[in-house]
Amino acid sequence: MSVASPIEAPDLGALPPMTVADRLPRLRAALAAAECEALLVTKMVNLRYLTGFTGSDGMALVLPDELVFITDGRYRDQSADQLAAAGVEAHIEIAGVEQREVLGAAAAASGIATLGLEADAVTWSRQRAFADSWFPEIELRPTTGLVDDLRLVKDDGEVARIEAACAVADVALARVRHRLHDGLTEQEFGLELDTEIRRLGATGNSFETIVGSGPNGAKPHHRPSRRRIADGDLVVLDFGALVDGYCSDMTRTVMVGEPTPTQQRMLDVVTEAQQAGVDAIRAGEPTRAIDAACRQVIDDAGWGEAFLHATGHGVGLEIHEAPRVAATADATLAPGFVVTVEPGVYLPEHGGVRVEDTVVVTADGCRPLTLTPKTTPA
Ligand code: ZN
Ligand code: ZN
Repeated sequence: MSVASPIEAPDLGALPPMTVADRLPRLRAALAAAECEALLVTKMVNLRYLTGFTGSDGMALVLPDELVFITDGRYRDQSADQLAAAGVEAHIEIAGVEQREVLGAAAAASGIATLGLEADAVTWSRQRAFADSWFPEIELRPTTGLVDDLRLVKDDGEVARIEAACAVADVALARVRHRLHDGLTEQEFGLELDTEIRRLGATGNSFETIVGSGPNGAKPHHRPSRRRIADGDLVVLDFGALVDGYCSDMTRTVMVGEPTPTQQRMLDVVTEAQQAGVDAIRAGEPTRAIDAACRQVIDDAGWGEAFLHATGHGVGLEIHEAPRVAATADATLAPGFVVTVEPGVYLPEHGGVRVEDTVVVTADGCRPLTLTPKTTPA
């Protein structure tokens, strides 16, 4: 049995460029506000954001007038190629154990007195090494979120990548969902989905696929097991694709066979809650208002206690990034933010239902990037 795709398979070879070179000046402005003269970027995803470098090891010393990029010999050609392709001007250093001397000398020669570290990405032992032997004459300051905050607003090239990753997920599910009737185990169905994601050209999954059938669906982050998917199961499918480093995130809950009245009500309530959350999104809105909009519908249905998690999160180079979309969050939405809306209800005796879209925030609302219908039967 074949099922029509909701949309065409995306052309991953035709992604528009990103404005990588614009990011460094914005970081320097944020640095000034944080009262640091320079920043040592050690969080790899931030290094990628600022320079286009996709290797697994490297650092950037962002000085007032210069960017010093350092990596090891494995990435000599790749770093030169990727920084040039991104239009990023940098002094590239290739070094092994002598990275300490090279960066220490560059920082000392620049005359800076203060240097920010990415406090959330530096281990205690590394901070001690930086302070004691890398930059002994410079005052090190902890900083949080300087680059991560820049990443909140996605440029058009970033949105296009996330959108392509969402399209891969949509098409992959459309192509394999009929197999939910074939008596596969959760692991086997997950493999079908993951294989299709790769076949469509994604470099991988944006996180480990969740397949939660029957009672397993009542555990929000259930790992696929050897349980066989059977008639009467609600099946929670939460998965995403990775395209040029950018993630997608979508959950659909598929009813295999006829739902009981309670299962149908769970599907209806969660779908309505999710739509209420999406409808509440617009620039200027606090993210906790999105959480409240979802929670209100589920509370009204009497299942407030069964909504076990926050409503959503940012998506970009990381599957979970700022902003949080939660009752306790203090973020405010702006155009270009990409967030998820993913309420759920989990009742062990009936199963679980979660519905999740990835959306991009606009001035007067949002544009969903995950497009798989929510109510189509399996
Ligand atoms: Zn998800
Ligand atoms: Zn999510």
